[in-house]
Amino acid sequence: MKTAFLSDVHGNLEAFTAVCSSIKNEQVDRIIFLGDIVGYGANPNECIDQLQKLTNHVVAGNHDWAAAGMPSTHNFNSWAGAALAWTCAQLTQDNKLFLRALPLIRDMHELLCVHATPYMPDAWRYVFNALDAEAAFATFSHRLCFIAHTHCPAIFKKAEGAAVVQELPAVVTLHSYCRYIINCGSIGQPRDGDPRASYGVYDSSANRYYCIRIEYDLVSAQRKVRRAGLPDFLAHRLSVGR
Ligand code: ZN
Repeated sequence: MKTAFLSDVHGNLEAFTAVCSSIKNEQVDRIIFLGDIVGYGANPNECIDQLQKLTNHVVAGNHDWAAAGMPSTHNFNSWAGAALAWTCAQLTQDNKLFLRALPLIRDMHELLCVHATPYMPDAWRYVFNALDAEAAFATFSHRLCFIAHTHCPAIFKKAEGAAVVQELPAVVTLHSYCRYIINCGSIGQPRDGDPRASYGVYDSSANRYYCIRIEYDLVSAQRKVRRAGLPDFLAHRLSVGR
């Protein structure tokens, strides 16, 4: 079975549309969305509409949670706060209800899916490095946990009794004697220095995971952010992938 993992669209319709057409070439059996469909970008309602057509395997991200008016302990910086207020004002009532109903975590048999961490998913903590991953591995028993939130694709591997190893997020063979935490990166606002949209595909029959990067119409997305009166930094960062 092939599963695509998508995350952190953040209202960037141009990037999301490019990824949706790329997925068609991958011939996946299912699509799982790991949160943050809204926040930062200029098309929150359009991105929710597109997500609803794509899949119903969705978890909430911190921006979805906050935009739906759920109490959040996450501290938003000034750009994120400005974008959040703008997004709240744009969202239709139906779309707020949709975001509000999203679960924080999904247990899909062999896979655990969550936006932030498998423990305390509503604390919105980050798994940036092997040390963070080590703490996370101790809190769940599944072989595979798919996460997002950092906007940086990453693969953390844990063999029984050994320290966590971070692998390059390209094509990896998943060994049966290891457990993995995998971050599929961000579609609408990558922060690993590569501005291309990022998503991942897990092929369970081949025991393989790979990360795909897609170019999209970045200039249109930036123009819309500026036209909406959102902070200029949010447009600028798209071209540098930070
Ligand atoms: Zn995000």
